[in-house]
Amino acid sequence: MSIAPSELAYVPFVSVENMMRLVHHIGVEEMMAGICTNLEEDFRRWQAFDKTPRVASHSQEGVIELMPTSDGETYGFKYVNGHPKNTREGLQTVTAFGLLADVYTGYPVLLSEMTVLTALRTAAMSAFATKVLAPKAAKTMAMIGNGAQSEFQALALKAICGIETVRMYDIDPSATARAAGNLEGRMNVVSCGSPEEAIEGAQVITTCTADKQYATILTDNMVGAGVHINAIGGDCPGKTELHKDILYRSDVFVEYTPQTRVEGEIQQVGEDFEVTELWQVLSGARQGRRDRRQITLFDGVGFAIEDFSALRYVRDQLEGTGIYQKLDMLADPDDPRDLFGMVERAGEAVR
Ligand code: NAD
Repeated sequence: MSIAPSELAYVPFVSVENMMRLVHHIGVEEMMAGICTNLEEDFRRWQAFDKTPRVASHSQEGVIELMPTSDGETYGFKYVNGHPKNTREGLQTVTAFGLLADVYTGYPVLLSEMTVLTALRTAAMSAFATKVLAPKAAKTMAMIGNGAQSEFQALALKAICGIETVRMYDIDPSATARAAGNLEGRMNVVSCGSPEEAIEGAQVITTCTADKQYATILTDNMVGAGVHINAIGGDCPGKTELHKDILYRSDVFVEYTPQTRVEGEIQQVGEDFEVTELWQVLSGARQGRRDRRQITLFDGVGFAIEDFSALRYVRDQLEGTGIYQKLDMLADPDDPRDLFGMVERAGEAVR
């Protein structure tokens, strides 16, 4: 008697190793461009999704979060942590995995690592916001915070927005040296000794630092007229990157307001501070960039729909590649009510 599950009960699983194979199979820039296309599609059908701020469990050291959503046909969630102290212990600040399920049956249809995928989707999201909001002629970006996300951020803006030069700064020069080395030959890289030097001549500024505190990575006098800022490192209560005066001079764009009010840069200002959700710019309900002097600020914290967009991209790419394992994670007896009998028969089969 076979105790092997039916084909239907197998769940495609993308391990870290297979995610890296997929990245090489598709190309890192191409993959971020593909995820960006999905992001745009999903932000255009914003009303179709269940939306809820992520469910966060905070501790002294960091945060563990669940990020669920559904478009009525497919359900998805991501498990993700954020532990700024981890790098000092040789661990990642952010690790994640995620799942898609069929709403009709409730059966999972994909389980995937999402540490690498989160970096790809976060970069694709910054590029998406930059494409919508930044000056069209932008060719130079500043990348402040040169940790795990940074190379992805720079390459996504290159691939999707035509950025040619990245000016990099980190309080830890070895982080800048690593990122600059990894980007060598892919785009122009300028390693900088201060944040002021990094933003010189940049039309786009991305801050992606990790510190569990209200930090001031950019002060008001550093931000000139006309720039676009992606502030993506501050993404939980008590963790921000910009001086609050910058917010008052900017038009602020967010993913999902109820979540960003708690987690984003705008936690520094009142509940009545006006923001625009990005989907409203796509739908034409609200304006994005109006003029050359306007400062646009994407206060990105990462929202469940973005993980959904990335997971469905991976699901669609897997077909025919074999770059996944079949995971036996659903108990699925031939007679749906005979779960106990299935367990009993397994005993006979292994005896
Ligand atoms: P990381 O720990 O690998 O890198 C962070 C870097 O910031 C480090 O190199 C550190 O030296 C540098 N840094 C800290 N303070 C600085 C300062 N004052 N000036 C310049 N550099 C400074 O972390 P990571 O994985 O790259 O993530 C960075 C941040 O982005 C984290 O806070 C993470 O939670 C956040 N994040 C946000 C999203 C999103 O969707 N918005 C997604 C992923 C990660």
